[in-house]
Amino acid sequence: MKYCKKCIMPSTRPEQVFNVDGICNACLSVNQKKDIDWQARKKSFEDTLSKYRSSNGDYDCIIPVSGGKDSCYQAIVMKEKYNMSPLCVNHSPCELTDVGRENLEFLSEQGFDIISVIPNRKSYKEMVRLGFFKLGDSCWPEHIGIFTAPVRMAVNYNIPLIIWGENSQFEYGGPALQSENNFLDKNWLEQFQMLGHRISDVVHEGINLSDIKTHIYPSDEEINHVGVTGLFLGYFEPWDSKRNVDIVEARGWKRNPDGPIDGAYNDIENLDCKWIGGLHDYMKYLKFGYGRATDQLCIEIRAGRMSREEALKEYEVTTEGKMPTKYIQDFLDYLDIDEDTFHKNLDSFTNKALFCLDETTGKLLKDSDFNLSRKYIPS
Ligand SMILES: [Zn+2]
Repeated sequence: MKYCKKCIMPSTRPEQVFNVDGICNACLSVNQKKDIDWQARKKSFEDTLSKYRSSNGDYDCIIPVSGGKDSCYQAIVMKEKYNMSPLCVNHSPCELTDVGRENLEFLSEQGFDIISVIPNRKSYKEMVRLGFFKLGDSCWPEHIGIFTAPVRMAVNYNIPLIIWGENSQFEYGGPALQSENNFLDKNWLEQFQMLGHRISDVVHEGINLSDIKTHIYPSDEEINHVGVTGLFLGYFEPWDSKRNVDIVEARGWKRNPDGPIDGAYNDIENLDCKWIGGLHDYMKYLKFGYGRATDQLCIEIRAGRMSREEALKEYEVTTEGKMPTKYIQDFLDYLDIDEDTFHKNLDSFTNKALFCLDETTGKLLKDSDFNLSRKYIPS
C-alpha cells in the first residue's frame, strides 16, 4: 500500500491513479484547475441560466439540499448572485440528526421553500439492511435517494433545471451546456452510486419496486418530456468548501456541536445522517484502509491550507479507524440485530490484507473495543 507523495491518500482508494512520481490524480487535477478560464465558464453559466430564469417568480431551478454547508451555499448563491428562484429538494437521510434538522430549518429561515421527500420507513429500512449486509454500505439507499428525488421533483413540477454542487467523479469535466443534454443521468447513477447493484435487483430481497418510488429514476420519456438538465455549480466557479462554510456559518448555519464526528477530522461534513459519518465511513475504512479524516485532510492539503507534514500530525489525533461509538446502538435497534451479527458482518467486508491477523486462529486481531490493528499508516 502506497500513499500519494503530495497528499495522504492511499493507493487502495477506488479509481485512484498515481503517476510515475507517485502523485495521485486528485492532486494532479489541482494544477489543471489553475489553467481553467473561469471567466469564460461563468459567462457560459450566465448564458445558460438566462434561458431558464423565470420572469414571474415561478420556481426556475431545483437545488438538491441536505442542509449541509455546500447545498446551503448553492441555494444562497443561486438566489442572490444569479437571481434564480430555486425550489430546494431534500431527501431525508437514513436517520436525521438534530443538527441536520436545525440546518434545514436554517435554510428555510433564509427564505427558501423546501420539499422534503421522506421515503416510507418500512421499505427504506429493508434497503438499509440490504446495503449493510450485501454491499457493506449502511447508507446505500441514501446515496441513491439524494440523486433520484430531485430528478423526480423536476419531472413532477416541470422544472427542468437542476443545479448540483460538485462532482467528485467527473472532476469538473464537461457538463451539459445544451438543454437537450442530460448530464447526470441514470447511467451515471448506476455506475457510481449504486455499487453495481441495480435498483430492480431489490425485488430479489423481497422489496417491491412500488414501495420505493422515491428511489426510482424517472423514465427517459419523462426526462425528455420536461427536458431535465443537470448542471454542476463546481464546473462554473472554483469550488471551495471552506468558503462555503464561511458564508453559511456567518448567517447561522451550525457545525456539529460535539466536534468532529466519529472518524473525521473536521466538524463540517456529513452532519445530517446518524450513520453516514460514523458507520458508513468506518466500513469504507475496513474495505480500503482509509476513512473520512484522510479525505478531509487531503482536501486541506490540496487547497494549500496545510502541508503534508501538518496533515500527518493532525491525522494522528483523529479517530479514523476506530470503531465508531455514537450511533451504533441506534443502528442495532433500527435493524433489530445483535452486536455479534453486526461485528460478523463488518468482518466479512474487512480487507484482511490491510489488518493484522491472529497467527494461530487466522482471525482479525481486535482490542476490547473491537478496534482492528492496522498494517499501514500514512507516512
Ligand atoms: Zn494526492
